[in-house]
Amino acid sequence: MLVLSGEAWDAVRTHSGVVGASEACGLLLGDRAGPRVRVVAARPARNLAPDPARGYVLDPGDWLAAYREAELAGLDLVGYYHSHPDGSGIPSAEDLAGAWPDHYYLIVTGSASAFLVQEGKARLVPVVVE
Ligand SMILES: [Zn+2]
Repeated sequence: MLVLSGEAWDAVRTHSGVVGASEACGLLLGDRAGPRVRVVAARPARNLAPDPARGYVLDPGDWLAAYREAELAGLDLVGYYHSHPDGSGIPSAEDLAGAWPDHYYLIVTGSASAFLVQEGKARLVPVVVE
């Protein structure tokens, strides 16, 4: 289960709304300890994909800044979020191919879905906001 703080979910939704027809992307910072992985903050990143309406590539500088922030705050890089402006909550073939093991990938449409890759297999993960 992936638990998002209300603040993190608001940040993800706001960013996704601002970029509109392009895919929004960013990092999820939180706490991996215990059975419930909790996201306490989301940090937006610029999308450097050649066609940002159909994929995402996180800006490495934005990635590094958020990663350092997490380290200083004692948080883990739990995973990533990105939006699907077409409304599909299903990970694309590129999403699955590019996923790092044991990182959560939150896909934002009107709602949220997430998947996790473990041992080469992707599975959907329940998402709750609290
Ligand atoms: Zn995707």
